[in-house]
Amino acid sequence: MKITAAVVKEKGGSFLLEEMELDQPQPQEVLVRIVATGICHTDMVIRNQQMPAPLPMVLGHEGAGVVEAVGNEVTEVAVGDHVVLTFGYCGKCSSCREGFPTYCEHMLEHNFAGSRPDGSHRIHQHSTPDLHDSFFSQSSFATYAVAHENNTIKVPKDVPLELLGPLGCGIQTGAGAILNSLNVPSGASIAVFGTGAVGLSAIMASRVAGATTIIAVDINDERLALALELGATHTINSKTGNVVEQIQQLTGPGTHFAFDTTGRPEVIRTAVQGLRTHGVCGLVGVTAPDKELSFGPNDIMVAGRTVKGILQGDSVPSIFIPRLIALYQQGQFPFDKLVKFYEFDQINQAAEDSEKGVTIKPVLRIGKV
Ligand SMILES: [Zn+2]
Ligand SMILES: [Zn+2]
Repeated sequence: MKITAAVVKEKGGSFLLEEMELDQPQPQEVLVRIVATGICHTDMVIRNQQMPAPLPMVLGHEGAGVVEAVGNEVTEVAVGDHVVLTFGYCGKCSSCREGFPTYCEHMLEHNFAGSRPDGSHRIHQHSTPDLHDSFFSQSSFATYAVAHENNTIKVPKDVPLELLGPLGCGIQTGAGAILNSLNVPSGASIAVFGTGAVGLSAIMASRVAGATTIIAVDINDERLALALELGATHTINSKTGNVVEQIQQLTGPGTHFAFDTTGRPEVIRTAVQGLRTHGVCGLVGVTAPDKELSFGPNDIMVAGRTVKGILQGDSVPSIFIPRLIALYQQGQFPFDKLVKFYEFDQINQAAEDSEKGVTIKPVLRIGKV
């Protein structure tokens, strides 16, 4: 079938809206008419080639839409269902079977290879024989996408579908880190470094978890004000003074938890130094491959601290995404405050606004519900 999709053809290039051909779904795949797709930092990372993935490629990995057709082995969703698309995983390796699909041993093939894991393509364009697709097993900067049943999550129909795509990546990353990975208990203290979509989701989730000291750290006062509105109890502008000292002034010994969304080694070091004994620091920021962290081993060992890597908030998406929607519907997780909508043909403006920090979470409206 004919679709319109946004392709990036070269490093740092614009998104170009072009007509392409999309295959019908294979037996375990689902054809989704895309209603809206969030733009996430990882789309920019690939566009700018800060992480390797083949171009030209149709990006987009926070799709939300309506099921139009299903392969004959699909049992999880049916035609007409509202769905959110999330990351791909095999469902069969030891990590997947242990309940940790975010650490699927075949993560790269399912999300970044630019094709299905078997090397075949879902999207074709005559004039671009080396076109790549299947980004996060979806490539949802498009009017239609084919995803695998595994990464197609049924969602309720009484919630605005155009809002839900970011739950499939950025929002579940921040919220899942708090509620799944760090398992922050009520009464705990936490410092969240970086108040983009992931950090603000972590702040909202920390409030849901019952944390009583939630410190937002950033250099942007406007974002820090929003962090307060969403549940932070304190803010620190890291341009002003020593952050570790300010954390200690607020907490005494330091925080039980720290959460870094920046991927900057010097920020992560601050996050760890601001922990109390036995504190845990979670890391989710994408970091350039040539960067290294430096701690004295005693910073970790003597204080009994833990530094923990986290992907996609350790989410089992079919369980966690509906949980976040229920929290949203009860007013406990107002992630809509992060979202600004753009039309599909404003994708380059949306990307620019995201990179400049003007917009926290851009969402492209692509089709009607
Ligand atoms: Zn797997
Ligand atoms: Zn993402």
